[in-house]
Amino acid sequence: MARREAFDRVDVVEGRDVDHYEPPAEGTINVFVDGDRPWLVTFLCPCRCTELVMAPLVGNRWRVEGYERGEVTLSPSVHRTVGCRSHFFVQGNRVEWC
Ligand SMILES: [Zn+2]
Repeated sequence: MARREAFDRVDVVEGRDVDHYEPPAEGTINVFVDGDRPWLVTFLCPCRCTELVMAPLVGNRWRVEGYERGEVTLSPSVHRTVGCRSHFFVQGNRVEWC
């Protein structure tokens, strides 16, 4: 199956409990918020390897913008060091492959 070129849905998830978390559907980005503060972004890898990518926003790791209007820009890029080793940017829900 071809690599995904864009995500088609953004869901905001309230709270900090990820213990019983069901990963999002393929093509959906989850943005976890604690109050007004986003702290975690998750999605299934857009190469369609089915691995869950978790991008923590705390500790100056990743920054997320635009999720309030359903468009996620994540910076810096995501570079998986295991499995598929995919490297990509997410900009306005689009996947920019490196
Ligand atoms: Zn992958």
